[in-house]
Amino acid sequence: MRLLILGGPGSGKGTQSQKLSEHFGIPWISTGDTLRAEIAADSPLGQQVSETLAKGELVSDKLMIALIKERLQQPDAAKGWILDGYPRTAFQAEELDFFLDTLNTQVNYAIWLELPAHALIERSENRAAIDDNPEALRRRIETLAETTIPMLEYYDYRQRLLRIDGNQPPDDVKREILGGIS
Ligand code: ADP
Repeated sequence: MRLLILGGPGSGKGTQSQKLSEHFGIPWISTGDTLRAEIAADSPLGQQVSETLAKGELVSDKLMIALIKERLQQPDAAKGWILDGYPRTAFQAEELDFFLDTLNTQVNYAIWLELPAHALIERSENRAAIDDNPEALRRRIETLAETTIPMLEYYDYRQRLLRIDGNQPPDDVKREILGGIS
């Protein structure tokens, strides 16, 4: 199973990704967590992206595409994965499909966790990551509307988009996802 979990900050992407990763016994790959770990380790990549994350901007497509190709070629990703927070731009989505073509595979579903902006803000206010400051949060929600929501059309057109109401208890969200992909 190869799933994309998409949604705004506080939409429950991480929670659902973890549940689905356990359910299917496949790795959970979060691009946001990967980048934050690089920043915490003060690696060259971390130094390169820390300002971008702190501002709530998107990391460049070029860098993200290289990162994800690397990760998806690791042995543990051979039988499937849950991608949390990737892709975020139409270019990333296209490049992901091109890359998966070369591996003779494809995304099964893109799962969109739908929540109104005010609910995202309320939920995110209870978190404390470096990029959860109010200004960065506002910028992330703007980017979501400007760039990521339009990208959903790419999957909708290919009949691989599953829209889920994210404003319900986590186990209900999970049940709805599993019902939708079976
Ligand atoms: P959020 O909680 O805003 O949904 P994530 O934890 O998924 O965010 O990602 C945190 C940050 O990491 C983003 O604001 C962005 O700077 C960067 N990032 C993560 N995934 C991507 C991606 N696919 N493309 C570009 N930047 C990304």
